Amino acid sequence: MRKSICTLFCLALLVACSDGKDSAKLHTSQIFVFGTLVDITFWDVDEALRSQAVAEISRDFQRMHYEWHPWNPGPLLSLNQALARGEPAEAPDSLIPLIIQSRELSSQSGGLFNPAIGSLLQLWGFQSSERPQGPPPSAEMIAAWRRQAPAMTDLELDGRVLRSRNPAVQLDFGAYAKGYAVDVAIAHLQQLGIANAIVNAGGDLRAIGSKDGQPWRIGIQHPQGEQEKLYAWLAVTAGEAVFTSGNYRRYREDQGVRYSHILDPRTGMPVDGVSSVTVIHHNGAIADAVATALVVAGPEQWEATALAMGVDQAMLVDDRGVVYMSPKMQQRVHFQDAPAVLQISEAFAEDP
Ligand code: ADP
Ligand code: MG
Repeated sequence: MRKSICTLFCLALLVACSDGKDSAKLHTSQIFVFGTLVDITFWDVDEALRSQAVAEISRDFQRMHYEWHPWNPGPLLSLNQALARGEPAEAPDSLIPLIIQSRELSSQSGGLFNPAIGSLLQLWGFQSSERPQGPPPSAEMIAAWRRQAPAMTDLELDGRVLRSRNPAVQLDFGAYAKGYAVDVAIAHLQQLGIANAIVNAGGDLRAIGSKDGQPWRIGIQHPQGEQEKLYAWLAVTAGEAVFTSGNYRRYREDQGVRYSHILDPRTGMPVDGVSSVTVIHHNGAIADAVATALVVAGPEQWEATALAMGVDQAMLVDDRGVVYMSPKMQQRVHFQDAPAVLQISEAFAEDP
């Protein structure tokens, strides 16, 4: 995982609602990892257990950061270098579930979520901790990449040995690893017997239990990048994850044109016209992958893509501020100011 994932703004935050009684039992610790602050918020957990949890999760995160980093020296970079040479390579244990699950999610998304596009991300300069400068890659370079069309289906995993039929496959889990990491952290908290907590990685989060018997309240920041402005809030129950993919926080710019860091694998070009997508799901890794896939899908295809990926709570905000929502999402989200245009999808079946 990378610094860039996390230099994003918090798209969601814990809605401050503590009173004197709350504050005695509400504690937040911060871990600096993946280039950002990850908040772990506890309700009614004693100090010794909180310290243990924070230390252990911090160790987990540092290991994932090292093992999953796509361009810093480490196991994923070595794996990608072997795939580029057309050689088989052993994947580290921690990467195997990511490869398997993300291959499935990529297939469900019709390739809109495609963690095999590391070479395209590199072409666009997004495999860097710095904002890329200068003109975008040429049309010829993008056309050459499209002819290679790397996809997760090019990969064969035999035990721990990974092979690619296509040397252009370069794995980059930037759209999904944060969700996976949040799930690992939540599982760790639960193993320690902690029932009420939130793990918030740069605004993408998962919450378990409740706060003083009430569901956790989560804020969603304004999708057009108006700093710190609360856009909406929702109550999170039953271990749900809330993940947002923004199309404006991280980008490159040339001659007044902004290019998003979320790329459309069909065209090789940055996605245009979508400000953000927020997804609620009980699994953080899935929520993260789906949020990215729906940004690529855009207003035309987000419903079909969400349904194909098993998600029925999603919201897409386009760059004109039009809000598209599934009915279940509408039931959850409370806007600060009602959006000017709100479209509730009819593509999602009602509960029987
Ligand atoms: P955030 O960085 O806000 O968490 P995402 O979860 O959408 O946003 O992840 C964006 C990152 O995913 C990009 O920086 C890039 O590394 C990677 N990426 C971009 N486009 C795609 C895509 N179509 N499929 C898979 N990964 C992508
Ligand atoms: Mg994502």
